[in-house]
Order: sequence, then structure tokens, then C-alpha cells
Amino acid sequence: MYHAIYEGKLFNIEEQMNNSLNREQEIESLKKRADKGAYTCPHCVASLIVKAGDIRGVFFAHSSGDACVLNESYNTYKNQTARESKQHSVMREIVHEVLKNQEKVQTDLHVDFGYIAKATEKWNHYPDIILRNHEDELAISILTNVDRSKDSKLTKQIKKRNQYYRDKGLQTIWFIEDQELSLDWGNQVIHLWESEIDLSIKTAEDTQWDVFINGLNNNLPELFDIFGYWRKNSEIKMDTRSLYYIHSTQEGIDFSVHRFIIDELQFPHRAFALSKGYRMSISTALSFNEKLALSDTTLEKNDQDTFRQKYDLMKAKWDEKNEARLKSQEPIHDPHHSFNLTIAESIGATTEQGEIASQQVASSYSPDINRPAKKMQYTEFRDLLTARLGMTQKQQMHLWTYYVLKRGVKEFNQLWLVAEHLETFDQFEEALNDYLSR
Ligand SMILES: [Zn+2]
Repeated sequence: MYHAIYEGKLFNIEEQMNNSLNREQEIESLKKRADKGAYTCPHCVASLIVKAGDIRGVFFAHSSGDACVLNESYNTYKNQTARESKQHSVMREIVHEVLKNQEKVQTDLHVDFGYIAKATEKWNHYPDIILRNHEDELAISILTNVDRSKDSKLTKQIKKRNQYYRDKGLQTIWFIEDQELSLDWGNQVIHLWESEIDLSIKTAEDTQWDVFINGLNNNLPELFDIFGYWRKNSEIKMDTRSLYYIHSTQEGIDFSVHRFIIDELQFPHRAFALSKGYRMSISTALSFNEKLALSDTTLEKNDQDTFRQKYDLMKAKWDEKNEARLKSQEPIHDPHHSFNLTIAESIGATTEQGEIASQQVASSYSPDINRPAKKMQYTEFRDLLTARLGMTQKQQMHLWTYYVLKRGVKEFNQLWLVAEHLETFDQFEEALNDYLSR
């Protein structure tokens, strides 16, 4: 086993070996102390010996003849964690220590390693850490080495373990090493392993996101369409879930959280991303106040603001597109002709008409219609075109150097009246050339 009581404290032999520069020397001194009875079992208080081998590594053991339940639970846990990376034990010890420190000030909180806490109950699987507050127990597990080649086998193991802990009446939380999740924020999609879907949980913050989204738009398929999210299923439940990642840093470890609505339960697994996710320190993530925090209040609020802003923008575009679609279904006139006509009308307008045109533009991009008409600057025009037509950097440079600098185009208010009804930069350029060639 990894743990012993040494000098009145819980001691981890793996961590000691990880930090040691000279393996042989370290084993030597561990063995010497053990022979003198320095390490005792956290469970039965028998003194422990140190064993070292190339395959099993360095560990504590009861001297033969000592019957202790930790023998059994340790072997079960060791087999279960054999697949984990070297970092696993380091992370487990850090998480344990941070929680253990809070135990000192919160009398109802109890923190223990799973294989020690449940040794007498002889469980089939053990979470890394068990946190007990009053009657509530939380199984904390850290998962490393998650990737595709191992996914199907791992998924089965995880499902089984997760269900096992739940059947025992525990809540579960899994921290996944590094970021296996892949986010495509532009398409609002998260691609997931099946194991990641299984390990997502629903927290109080997730429920708060459900309420928040419902307040924006309670028609979920429509909301997805507004965001241009390519949805696979038409029957989607408003059910925000979250996933937690654990990262090794120079200072130790920190955490990140991602929130999403699962769309596809078959391979390839995907979900609608609600946020880009954010990192938080271990003290934020693991601060305990009747429950583990697992979130940062300020960053959570920022994420909701960002989502709302993006929604407002996408909704305006969506409404505009629908309006245009309705218009195109009206009795037909030649759209090309009408663009030219509009350009001719607006650019070639007399001063008086021009004033009216700019007034209209000003009111169309400013909600305050009483504000005097202002002349649109190139930067504003550029931003409007970028948002409306998806103008690229290259197209923007072309517009600036060729049309604005060389050809002297500057009637941006009027040009916007034309551009706002177009879909692409090419259409706009065509209309502009038609006008300039007159
Ligand atoms: Zn023992």
C-alpha cells in the first residue's frame, strides 16, 4: 500500500519516491526506518515493511501473518489504478491535502483515501478520495490516460465504477487529466469521448444555466439554429451539464470547467457549447462550503454575459435573414437591377436626398433616432461589412487601397444602405463596380 502513518502524519510512499533523486538510496533509508517500526498501518496500527520491485514499484506491506483489511482493499485499488499515469498519484495527494486542510476548520467534513475509508466494507472499486459531510458522501476520482485507443474499454470500466459508487449512495465527481475535450467555439460545438459524456455531471451552476438559457429563448431547436449550430437531433432536452479537467502546472495543479448541452449520444459524440470554459485555481475549485465549489462566480457571470451578447448578435442576423427570405418570396423583380438602382439613388443623390439617406442609416445602426445624422467613418463601415458580409482581412485591404484610397469612395452611409441587403462581399463589389463604371 502507498500510505502509512509516519511521525503522526499520513505518509505517501509513491510521492516520496517521485520526489527522490536517488532511488536506491531512498529505498535504503525507507527500509531502515521501517525495520525500526517507524511506519504503521493507518487501519490496524501494525508496523509496516517496505517492499521494492521493478514491476510493483515501492510500497508498504504488512509483515506476513498480520491480517488486515487494508491488504485486500489496497490490492483492489492498485489493480484499478495500474492504468493511470505517474501524475495520478501526485494529483491525488495534492487534492487530498487541500481538502484535508479544510477538514481542520469544518467539523462536519471528513476526508479520506477511498481504499482506506471503505477497507472494512470490502468494495469492488474505490474512488481516490471520499469526502463526507454530515450524511452526504462524495466519491472523487482522477482519471488519466484518456484517449481514443482506450476509450471503449475505459468507458465500460468507468460506467461500472461510476454506477457502483452511486449504488453505494455516493455522489461522484471525476477530474480528467489535461484537456481531452475539443472545442470548436466558432461552430459552437464540443466533440467528446463517450467516457467524457459519462463523466459529465449536473451541478447547481448547471441548473442556473438552464434557467438563464430558458430566459433568453425557451425554444431549444430555434436557439441552436440561431447560433448556426448543426444539430443532429430535433428532440433535445434543456439539460446543461459540466465536465472538469485537472491540469499540472509549475506551481501544482489547477482545474477547468466546461458547460454544454449534449446533442449526440452515439459516436461521434458532440454537444452544444455554452462557454469556452475557464481555468480556476485549486483553492477556488476545491473550496468547500456544504459542497465543493467547482466554479468561479465572477468567471461564470462573464461566461453568461458573453453568451448573451453572442445570442443578441446572432439573433439580429437570424431575424434579418428570415426577413430577407420572406421578401424574396414576394413577386419577383430583378434583384441585380434593384441593387444598381439603390446605389444610383443613394450615391448619385442630391445633397437633400443624401441627408435623408444618412439620417436613415444613422437610425438603422443607432437606436437613438433623435440623434443628428452623423457621417459614417470608414472604420465603422468596415466593421459593419465584416459583421454583415463576413468580409475577410484581404477583402478589407482591397476595399481600402483600391476603392477608398485610389477611387476616392467615401459615401459610406449610402453604401451601407446597399450592403446591408447583400450576403457576400463579392455581391457588394459587383454592385459597387456597376455604379463606378457609369
Ligand atoms: Zn493494517
